[in-house]
Amino acid sequence: MEADSAVYKTLLESTKAIPWKLDWQTMTFAYIGPQIEALLGWQTHSWKTVQDWADRIHEEDRERVTSFCFAQSKEGVDHEADYRALTKDGKYIWIRDVVHVVRNASGEVEALIGFMFDISERKKTEAQLIEMQKELEALSFKDGLTGVANRRMFDSVMEVEWANARRNNQPLALIMVDIDYFKQYNDCYGHLQGDECLKRVACTLASAATRSADFFARFGGEEFMLVLPGTDEVAALTVAERCRSLIFKEQIVHAKSPVSQILTISMGVGAIVPNHQETIVDFIETVDRRLYLAKQRGRNTIAGEGR
Ligand code: GH3
Ligand code: MG
Ligand code: MG
Repeated sequence: MEADSAVYKTLLESTKAIPWKLDWQTMTFAYIGPQIEALLGWQTHSWKTVQDWADRIHEEDRERVTSFCFAQSKEGVDHEADYRALTKDGKYIWIRDVVHVVRNASGEVEALIGFMFDISERKKTEAQLIEMQKELEALSFKDGLTGVANRRMFDSVMEVEWANARRNNQPLALIMVDIDYFKQYNDCYGHLQGDECLKRVACTLASAATRSADFFARFGGEEFMLVLPGTDEVAALTVAERCRSLIFKEQIVHAKSPVSQILTISMGVGAIVPNHQETIVDFIETVDRRLYLAKQRGRNTIAGEGR
């Protein structure tokens, strides 16, 4: 027996997990593995009562962990809890405490025995994964080439603004932008410069709408959308005019353009106070038809309901 307990002691004190035992009646530590000092800096004999343990839990974790562990123990249920443990030099280390509840012959709780595991590496990985997840979400709503919102984001925003406009009986305006003779641009300057041109156009148009609710997205290849909540057609036409002049100011050379030596855009504009009969698809189609009209009228043009 003596030999056995020596073996057990050696085993317990040579694992990376830190064993401990707490007497339930007195709420004092009967044992804690010497490994605790290497991990947290606190000497073994400084772990006297359950209070020493609670005091060394991060403030933000303390209430959650202590009340959970106490409740589980009282019920006699084995459990585990993750928390940040305070080190002697004032840092925190993520710990997983795995607890077994020991009961006596009559079923009353007698002691808790457990193992503390250093899970700081795992927590770091978890934090990295969460960060990556966030980035991925951001990326899936962002157009890879231009960095502005993509079609998927446009669809979501449109849903929200449409419902909002209908509820508040407010107009919602849409400007659909298409670059003129962009095929010729690519043919003349190559696809890579075509991409650079798209980035520049996107960046320029993104600054055209200035209200905080205004939203800009790449809709397709060289087509962009401006969503303008609380905006009527007249005001939207003004924004469209601003888009045209901003692009003109960029003076992007387009030698093969039949309308100008400078890159130009055409736009379809519409505004609607949505009711229950109309759909987003119909509205977008209306604006798309106006864009087509603007193209027919010779490009570098804006077409709306009244013009
Ligand atoms: P229009 O004035 O009638 O709009 O003439 P267009 O040449 O611009 O005709 P259209 O809008 O049909 O052509 C779009 C062109 O845009 C065709 C396609 O090769 C090009 N394009 C679409 N996406 C990209 C892209 O990501 N990069 C580049 N470089 N070109 C693109
Ligand atoms: Mg197009
Ligand atoms: Mg085009």
